[in-house]
Amino acid sequence: MAQQRRMGGQPMFILSEDSQRTQGRDAQSSNIMAGKAVAESVRTTLGPRGMDKMLVDSGGEVVITNDGATILDEMDIEHPAAQMIVEVAESQEEEVGDGTTTAAVIAGNLLGEAEDLIEQDVHATTIVEGYHEAAEIALEAIDEQVSESEVDDEILKQVAESSMTGKGTGGLTAESLAETVVEAVRHVEVDDGVERENVGVHTQIGASSNATELVPGIIVDEEPAHDEMPAEVEDASIAVLDVELGVRTGEVDAEYAIDSIDQLNAAIDAEESEVRGYAETIADSGVDVVFTTDDVDERVASFLANEGVLVFEDLGDSDARDIVSATGARRVGDLEDLEEADFGHAERIRSENFGDGDLAFVEGGAAAEAVTVFVRGGTEHVVDELERAITDALDVVATALASGEVVPGAGATEIAIADKIREEAAGIEGRKQLAVNAFADALDVVPRTLAANTGQDPIDSLVDLRAGHESAGRAGLITAGEEVTIDDPFEYGVIDPADVKREAIESATEAATMIVRIDDVIAAE
Ligand code: ADP
Ligand code: MG
Repeated sequence: MAQQRRMGGQPMFILSEDSQRTQGRDAQSSNIMAGKAVAESVRTTLGPRGMDKMLVDSGGEVVITNDGATILDEMDIEHPAAQMIVEVAESQEEEVGDGTTTAAVIAGNLLGEAEDLIEQDVHATTIVEGYHEAAEIALEAIDEQVSESEVDDEILKQVAESSMTGKGTGGLTAESLAETVVEAVRHVEVDDGVERENVGVHTQIGASSNATELVPGIIVDEEPAHDEMPAEVEDASIAVLDVELGVRTGEVDAEYAIDSIDQLNAAIDAEESEVRGYAETIADSGVDVVFTTDDVDERVASFLANEGVLVFEDLGDSDARDIVSATGARRVGDLEDLEEADFGHAERIRSENFGDGDLAFVEGGAAAEAVTVFVRGGTEHVVDELERAITDALDVVATALASGEVVPGAGATEIAIADKIREEAAGIEGRKQLAVNAFADALDVVPRTLAANTGQDPIDSLVDLRAGHESAGRAGLITAGEEVTIDDPFEYGVIDPADVKREAIESATEAATMIVRIDDVIAAE
């Protein structure tokens, strides 16, 4: 529908004829509906008894997951307002690594509450102001919920476990995984925080998830260039090369005008001696393990195998960079320049076959503190979901350790926030008070959803939780084994990092207020 303005009797087109335009309440309500629908779609996955989703893409590729960010990412959402809720989950994932479902669900309910307010003729600006004010109160409430206890290994393990409950961990107890996760994060702790990027996760199918372990180094998908090479080298000096160890491709293509057997032999000899030259240079350098980003000639590989040198060829650039940073090697582009100063070092390098390929383990690298969680599982789906669960757990443990601030989980923090907001709303004048109260109602959705997902009555649970909060200052809906009880989450080790809650409030508020403020959608064809 083209927009027309009349100017001196002449119609003036300011939009192309094909563009779509929706305005006013229609625009608001269609955006709100789309945003709510997205949040609704992940609601059933929230919490320890949250269900999984199976997502099938147009190519038939299947992903089974409980992870909010992954679900929203795989869903291929097109509506621009819905896309903003997806971005809430994305930014949550990026900033703190967990709480993506919570953030999306809160954002959806902020929109739902806004819809009701709009129907009651509360202006969008008032809603936005009220929401911002409520978000400020929420952040204060989170500060008040922060645990007094020091964040030690025990608490970190509980944080890891809380983030992993409800995720398919392939029969592996969350407890032993949590231990691995905490050990990994402790390993990369530095004076002023945590070097999260130094913890890698590598998946490999073929064993039970019980075989998941922490490797004190890095793992790369590479196999030795020759069968006879040693599978393991201890106390290894390492060279990382960008050199083709063979007759250079260019020279092979050059045409030899060979018209006698002598010339042919000479040509072969020349090639042989070139190849032998590479092999000898490397062997003489005293290096134990060579990684090169280029090809290695079969003859060079065989010669080096005889010399007991372990060689990996055709290395990907990112693997090469990882090995450089783990071992302290310097990349060398010309074999003639190779000298001892370029060597990196590792306590142990070993190559292991896993049926569908070989992995190289570079352990105890001299230059880096990198560790890798080596995730095992029977099938691709199991290891993939395990990887997501472990990645989330690594993120929350790193977040909790870096800030030293944790809050009660199981809905207790959301109950406390809603309570404080309602208390302060009483002192806020005019219609804005309605919006502030609506914000509190939107937060109730987290404990309500936890209740619904564990088969409890959401309303009864909410009433009991509020009463519990009133009397004890802390009350969550805790799932412990088969039991569901209302109690102090700290007592049960249901603990979330404070930053996960802060980020959820901030990103959900931002997206919801942005969507509410829109009253005109103009879409080009
Ligand atoms: P998100 O994507 O928001 O992290 P999850 O499905 O991981 O969603 O659920 C997280 C919520 O589950 C948090 O509110 C957390 O406190 C809660 N939770 C974790 N473990 C338990 C438990 N044992 N009992 C009750 N709630 C729990
Ligand atoms: Mg989670």
